[in-house]
Amino acid sequence: MSHSKKSPFEATLEKMRIAAERQGYTPDDYAPLMHPERELAVSMPIRMDDGSIQVFEGYRIQYSTVRGPGKGGIRYALDVDLEEVRSLACWMALKCAVVDIPYGGAKGGVTCDPTQLSKMELERLTRSYTMKIAPIIGEMEDVPAPDMNTNAEIMGWIYDTYSKLKGVISRGVVTGKPLELGGSAGRQAATGYGVMLCTHEAVKEVFPGQEEGLRVVVQGAGNVGMVAAKLLHERGYKIIAISDVTGGLYNPEGLEIEAINAHASARKLFDIYTPGTGTQRISNAELLGLDCDVLIPAALGGQVDLDNVASLKCKLLVEAANGPVSPDAEDWLFERGIPVIPDILANTGGVIGSYLEWVENLSQLKLTPEDYNKQVATIILNGYAAVVAMAKEYQVCYRDAAQMLAMKRLIETTKQRGIWP
Ligand code: GLU
Repeated sequence: MSHSKKSPFEATLEKMRIAAERQGYTPDDYAPLMHPERELAVSMPIRMDDGSIQVFEGYRIQYSTVRGPGKGGIRYALDVDLEEVRSLACWMALKCAVVDIPYGGAKGGVTCDPTQLSKMELERLTRSYTMKIAPIIGEMEDVPAPDMNTNAEIMGWIYDTYSKLKGVISRGVVTGKPLELGGSAGRQAATGYGVMLCTHEAVKEVFPGQEEGLRVVVQGAGNVGMVAAKLLHERGYKIIAISDVTGGLYNPEGLEIEAINAHASARKLFDIYTPGTGTQRISNAELLGLDCDVLIPAALGGQVDLDNVASLKCKLLVEAANGPVSPDAEDWLFERGIPVIPDILANTGGVIGSYLEWVENLSQLKLTPEDYNKQVATIILNGYAAVVAMAKEYQVCYRDAAQMLAMKRLIETTKQRGIWP
């Protein structure tokens, strides 16, 4: 439980306001960016496999389209609500601005427990949700993508439903699709790839010349955490702990990442993993408090707050999940000189990968896997360098710098476009 009284969205707005004012902008400049442009709440009555009817609620929020079409994932989870989707939509607008890709920010969600739905129920729910949000999404309007508990197959259903409804082939309406439907091979690993690149850049600054063998702890073994762990391991880092929903695996000498990756890739949880020599099981709380060089929370939001931040022993924290560290916990880390690479920079690899998929769909051209990864790297590293430059110029932490960069780009675009009518 966080001690912070402000909701995550209010806290973000406050940071956005400060980020704008620090650069001399006035309320007239930033006021248009302090409100979501459009919020849609929908309900989906679904016939369940047993013949009964269940009504689900969902949202699609376009926080900003000032820099381009709305962009952002769709999450399926029990705690999805308007407020959470609004925060996440706002963060997408900031993220796309930080790495300078031509999108605004949006997010969607359906309040449901996908583990309790059959595949057919999941498909009916997804198609019904797509029909309800179809009036506001589109290749040039708003482009959804996967997020928590959604995947390529679900994106395929969205693409199909939308295209049939509109009577057009609209590959660019959604990203993170299966390859046969216009997806990009590199998209799935793109978030973890970006996390690895940002971690490596940060490490070069924090531990110059001593990258080899640095001890990394990763919370989360999904599409982001596992990929980042694997790629960091390949670069010579020592992954000493990783966790999933059932708890963590820990080996101070370095984990057997290939075996753990093979286990997780087979969709098996760690509670049925047979640990290698020297590897032991630990709890999630123990994992966060491990003595390490780099901590990468890559699971859920709200993992580090004032209640547990004092137990952290990392020297650098990279936010791979959305919002894993509360603002007051971040202040605590900042005061102790522990840098945090913020989510709105560190996990942008996913949306950058989506952008490239969308470019491929619109142009009907295909990048080679090498060119695709090269582009992801160029875009995220340019964003990283711009954040570092901003942090140096204003002597602020990386999150404040990322917010300032995003606000500057959003405000300048708003001013150039003008207020109409
Ligand atoms: N859901 C991912 C995120 O939070 C990716 C969004 C996208 O690809 O549009 O950044």
